[in-house]
Amino acid sequence: MSEALKVKDGVVVTLDYTLRLDDGEVIDSSTDEGPLEYLHGYGQIIPGLEKALVGLGVGDRKTVVVPPDEAYGDVDMDAFEIVPRSMFPDDLELEEGLELSLRDVETDEPFDATIAEIRETEVMLDFNHPLAGETLHFEVHIPAIRAATAEELAHGHAHGGDGHHH
Ligand code: ZN
Repeated sequence: MSEALKVKDGVVVTLDYTLRLDDGEVIDSSTDEGPLEYLHGYGQIIPGLEKALVGLGVGDRKTVVVPPDEAYGDVDMDAFEIVPRSMFPDDLELEEGLELSLRDVETDEPFDATIAEIRETEVMLDFNHPLAGETLHFEVHIPAIRAATAEELAHGHAHGGDGHHH
């Protein structure tokens, strides 16, 4: 038997997690979709969480608090833009907080935005990540750790056992 694997660069970690905001609201959890499998050290998860998991072993649990600068960054006040309300389809129910998937008319690049404010003839869009400015509270549990395959290392991400490839 080789020594039990610990979390370090180049291993595939299976992670059960619950993510809460400062107010205790659960905003994400692996309970619904099953544990996350990721390749450690390749930026597949946010930096603050990745750093905090180093050295943990199978069966370990940990609470990790990640400040915005090691998660999704601070809110960038320049990342707001006012657009005419008429640019949205009439049948779209506009609502503050609504997350939109848009496509740039010039470059055809997809991007996400959140409706920050609705005015009479204008809408203010927020292009920050929805979790920008948030301190993230993770409760994690590690059910499994394995060595990555050469292919996974070459791709820079984990390949799930279900044949899913992304
Ligand atoms: Zn791949």
